[in-house]
Amino acid sequence: MKDSRFRDENKRLSDFYREIWVHCPACEEKAIASADTVSKTARLVCTQCGHNQECSTGDASSNWIMAAHNFFDAELFLKADFKDSYLFAYNPEHLLYLEKYIAAGLREHHNRTGFTFLEKLPKFYHEAGNRKPLLALIAKLKKKAGIKYTP
Ligand SMILES: [Zn+2]
Repeated sequence: MKDSRFRDENKRLSDFYREIWVHCPACEEKAIASADTVSKTARLVCTQCGHNQECSTGDASSNWIMAAHNFFDAELFLKADFKDSYLFAYNPEHLLYLEKYIAAGLREHHNRTGFTFLEKLPKFYHEAGNRKPLLALIAKLKKKAGIKYTP
């Protein structure tokens, strides 16, 4: 029998903030937004057309509370409508983590804190009946992003 247990690594959404995949505001292709809390700069660089933007993240001590794409008002690249909501991932790592979670038959939650992003996901992610369509959606996003890796 395939071991499909999922081990919650207790990741928080902010663990994925460092590199955010977005649609380039210039050409709509994939661009990457990142924020550096040391230099207090956020940067957006397009992998296709070379478009790049930079801005200050400001003095907010809450830098890590904000994902980098918010500094540019850019649309997330890994995002798809699902029923009356939507599924999104900040980057491939995030998407694969979600895939692993949804695909798992048996879920292990260690030391529930109420703060990990799995615990905070909208209800539809946890509903067994949504497993298949969600995995299909993730497969579509992976294809769009050119991700071949499967966890
Ligand atoms: Zn571009």
